[in-house]
Amino acid sequence: IPSSIPSSQKVVLFNKTGGPEVLEYVDFAIPKIADNELLIKNRYAGINYIEGYFRTGLYPAKTPYVLGREATGVVVRVGSAVKGFQQGDKVTYLSGSTFAQYTKYPAVGNLIKLDAKADDEKMKLYSASLIQGLTALTFINEAYNVQPDDYILVTAAAGGVGLILDQLLSKQKKAHVIAIASTDAKLQKAKEAGAEYLLNSSKLSQDQLVAKIMEFTKNKGVSASFDSVGKDTAELSLAVLARKGTFVSFGNSSGAVPPLNISRLAKKNLKVLRPLLFGYIAEPEEFRYYLQKLFDLIDNKQLNISIYKVYPLSEYKTAVKELEGRKTSGKLLLEIPQ
Ligand code: NDP
Repeated sequence: IPSSIPSSQKVVLFNKTGGPEVLEYVDFAIPKIADNELLIKNRYAGINYIEGYFRTGLYPAKTPYVLGREATGVVVRVGSAVKGFQQGDKVTYLSGSTFAQYTKYPAVGNLIKLDAKADDEKMKLYSASLIQGLTALTFINEAYNVQPDDYILVTAAAGGVGLILDQLLSKQKKAHVIAIASTDAKLQKAKEAGAEYLLNSSKLSQDQLVAKIMEFTKNKGVSASFDSVGKDTAELSLAVLARKGTFVSFGNSSGAVPPLNISRLAKKNLKVLRPLLFGYIAEPEEFRYYLQKLFDLIDNKQLNISIYKVYPLSEYKTAVKELEGRKTSGKLLLEIPQ
């Protein structure tokens, strides 16, 4: 109820770019909503690798920059022109500034109302699956439409996006997943998620990785590489693609991919994409279509969302050190103080 909304809130932000040390857990004004907006009291917010790109300056950010990209929470204020929402509605949504107790968001954006019965577990699960789940789901259909029996390379195969890719590729698309990760424990997780071939990037040289992948694919190479690692794996991805293969380069976990001379694509008639999730869910119907698919997969237990750890909002710094230090697998979540 409005009267219980305090005048300030806790958020995680940065004022200058740098390592995790620039992160601040501070008091901040609660946003004022416009007529078409909702004020949402967040319950859980998902952590994504992209936060670090803004923090380090790889992507531009206006400071003070409140981090966060997705959350689940409860509507506590409704703009006067908003239809179809009321206080107390549970919602899950994609928006900036969700590492905060309160976030404002337009009622007609990338947001959906949850069933009133959605319990805390479900709110947790939905917050944990939005960006990474939608990324995996849209990319395997639109960046490269994966076909049964395709051989597909997945880098960071035990990461948040990685574990979802492994499952959807193997179970929904019936493709053969070749997983790369940096420890045997991570590879075991990828295997449980459906990966068929496991490659440990800390034990094998680039040449050995190429040789193994060519062996697994009977010298044909992979139909696509879903490569979020970037700088360290781009050459590997290009080397192991089959004729007419697709390089889906979608992240920079190890750094940005250096400029690519397109004439290098000629030898194998390759395609290269650098997609963003938001380019596939820009229209409300696209967002709803994929979100419904994602939630159906989760609700029907066809997709497991593996939560690594739930951290209090105040501990984001610890969480991001573990994420960027390659210690984690699956999803990291923040619990927002109520
Ligand atoms: P992850 O859980 O995958 O974490 C990153 C993983 O990258 C690490 O666990 C690590 O796995 C691997 N990695 C490889 N090299 C490095 C390095 N030098 N430093 C740190 N990590 C490294 O994160 P997310 O699931 O949140 O995101 C995965 C990637 O997908 C990110 O690059 C992200 O930006 C991108 N992404 C892109 C989207 C888009 O729209 N284009 C949308 C969503 C995510 P290992 O130790 O096994 O190598």
